[in-house]
Amino acid sequence: MREEHFDIVVVGGGHNGTTIAAYLAKCGLSVCILEERPECGGGQENTEPRPGFRIDPHATYLYGGAAPGFEQLDLAKYGFRMVYYQSMAGLVTTDGVAANLGGRWNREVAQKSVSYYTGQDAVGAEEVFLGSMGDDGLRDLLRSIFWTPPLPDSVEIEPKDAPMWQEFRKQLPGLWSERLVEMSFLDFLDEFVPWEPLRTFQAFAAWYCGAHPGWDGMLLPSLGGTLLVGYSSGSPRGGMHSYAHAIIRSAIANGARVITNASVGEILVKDGRAVGVKLDDKASYPEKTIWADKAVISAVDVKQTFLKLIGQTHLDASFVQKVRDVSLKGGSLYVLSVLCRELPKYHGREDAFPEEVYPSCVAAPVDSIDFFHTQTKDAYSKKKAPVLTKEHLTMMICQHDVYDRTRCPEGYHVLSPIYLEVPPPQYDVEGPEGINRHKDEITKAALDLLESLAPNMNSNNIVEVFLNTPYDSEFRNAGMSGGNWYGARQSEDQWFGSRPIKELGRYKTPIENLYLCNHTSHPGGLCLMAVPYNLMHVLIEDKIASPGNWWYPSPYYVADTKKGSQN
Ligand SMILES: Cc1cc2nc3c(=O)[nH]c(=O)nc-3n(C[C@H](O)[C@H](O)[C@H](O)COP(=O)(O)OP(=O)(O)OC[C@H]3O[C@@H](n4cnc5c(N)ncnc54)[C@H](O)[C@@H]3O)c2cc1C
Repeated sequence: MREEHFDIVVVGGGHNGTTIAAYLAKCGLSVCILEERPECGGGQENTEPRPGFRIDPHATYLYGGAAPGFEQLDLAKYGFRMVYYQSMAGLVTTDGVAANLGGRWNREVAQKSVSYYTGQDAVGAEEVFLGSMGDDGLRDLLRSIFWTPPLPDSVEIEPKDAPMWQEFRKQLPGLWSERLVEMSFLDFLDEFVPWEPLRTFQAFAAWYCGAHPGWDGMLLPSLGGTLLVGYSSGSPRGGMHSYAHAIIRSAIANGARVITNASVGEILVKDGRAVGVKLDDKASYPEKTIWADKAVISAVDVKQTFLKLIGQTHLDASFVQKVRDVSLKGGSLYVLSVLCRELPKYHGREDAFPEEVYPSCVAAPVDSIDFFHTQTKDAYSKKKAPVLTKEHLTMMICQHDVYDRTRCPEGYHVLSPIYLEVPPPQYDVEGPEGINRHKDEITKAALDLLESLAPNMNSNNIVEVFLNTPYDSEFRNAGMSGGNWYGARQSEDQWFGSRPIKELGRYKTPIENLYLCNHTSHPGGLCLMAVPYNLMHVLIEDKIASPGNWWYPSPYYVADTKKGSQN
């Protein structure tokens, strides 16, 4: 068949494409997902470089625990299983500090561990929040930040009245003060976290989880990233790809058609409306046309959508230029995976990380906040491979198998991923391949540093090392522009209705019936099911979708009055 018809065609079967397909199929629409690779999931990928050893080339933690999608898409019914961790994080310095920061159900571990060094009760930024909010309160605060569609253009509000601050005032009236609205997360850490290693850890954690902690006015989105991972406190059993499987099963069970090896070459536009897509010559059915009677949803990044898939004659030149200018300075990650026989035994207190509460992620070394500024400068300003000294190489060393033994055979451990922030390939002063030219030296320096912090991480213990640079990520997954976990830069001008640009801020586009559903839209990266949940509000407004009574909108949703409301 050279042609087929569906109500909805979704371009790209990554996290956001599969989730919106599941939502729309559950609304009774006929939906087709087209995925370029042989399997859907995008950044929710696990690979087995050796049989039985599961590594995470991209996403690793579940951040989406507060997502309405788990319930709305029945993910437990379709196989989603979570493993909760006793300790989410720990920190290590070069001079022998090793503190265990526990987790959502184990806060006393952090208290004991940090007070050993400080002589005071542990006070971290998360504790200020987690300690004073119930689970439901935290879930609602997170939903107001991430699972709320940007307000329509016509609605103007003061920053202090944004949904997230309204919810904050409701949940934490004693902590509220108007000056928080202007603060950066680093300002907040200066004020609330008196211990330098913990402050440094939390700055790094925020950078790896969401909005960069240095941006003024971004306290909540920045802290919110770390609260997301704290709220979820674990990962899907077997890794993030099993989360993708549950979403795909939900989509298929509701009637969606999934076509893999189906690389889309063109989004077809007729009289200003998106009417379907054409597969390119890499697809199993080259040149096939798939018509979309109601909408095309592009679940690939904004640049590919408008600079490659849509003929430029359909777009205004100034709009095209704005898309070209979207900055990719987000979080390009150098990813190492280490198969070993023993877990790292960090120097410092020997009893800091006992196996039953071993931190699933250790940030090391976090001696001083200068380490954080040094790495930010390497990634964003110097734009070249880091200098290979400890100040430039703070790593997030993740391992899941203490809590999830499906990750590797008995007798082994998998440190995967070990993340390191580096410049996005597109901005590297040596060109996009710059970071790859230095990969042997960077990998060696990172492993030497790991051994200096945990002396048992030597060649007797390490079985094998695998590497995925951000440039490699772009080749694995055409959606990972800049090898960037966040899609586009993590700053104030890239949030809410300005992400990725104002004209596209509410998932709608200048082409009628074409919508964006990718992590280049608000609220950005992470497998939160948030972009599709937020987009659903707009598709309901536009009368494309009409869900059953399983659907509930965000309490902070404001309808575009030109279109009607869901109330
Ligand atoms: C190193 C790294 C670490 C991360 N860590 C985490 C984490 O711990 N937790 C977390 O939740 N998130 C994490 N993320 C972020 C997360 O992976 C992404 O935000 C998420 O995968 C984005 O989903 P998406 O659907 O928008 O895009 P993608 O996952 O990129 O999906 C896009 C899909 O579209 C396909 N595609 C591209 N072009 C075409 C075309 N022309 N035709 C058809 N198909 C096409 C691609 O093959 C891909 O499958 C991480 C990302 C990286 C890179």
